[in-house]
Amino acid sequence: HADDSTQPFWDAARQDRLIAPRCVRCGTFRLPPGPFCFECQSRDVEWVELPGTGTIYTFTVVRHALHPDLAPAIPYASGVVELDGTQGAGARMLVNIIECDVDSLSIGDPVEIVWDHVNDEMTTPRFRPRR
Ligand code: ZN
Repeated sequence: HADDSTQPFWDAARQDRLIAPRCVRCGTFRLPPGPFCFECQSRDVEWVELPGTGTIYTFTVVRHALHPDLAPAIPYASGVVELDGTQGAGARMLVNIIECDVDSLSIGDPVEIVWDHVNDEMTTPRFRPRR
């Protein structure tokens, strides 16, 4: 759900652009976006465009559908991607990793963003292995 802290992210997503909020005072990226910096509690934020590439920090493979609607999707990989352009500043995203053989994924694999246009209002980021 979009709110004041996350609306710029979703607006950029509809244009296939990845942006992330960075604390103006200390430079820490705030992901997921929130009203305060978790390092210095500043409210001042700037939105920074990122290249949309990164590496797999950790992941899991889901093999059992937790809901009948998910049965066609299994097995699928869900992971945490560390975003290029942000190392050392805590910018990681929890995403699904698609267009891959889930049994060949490894931590540290390079990945790139794929924008999934779910409907007119909703575009959600996913990642796939970088070739
Ligand atoms: Zn800060």
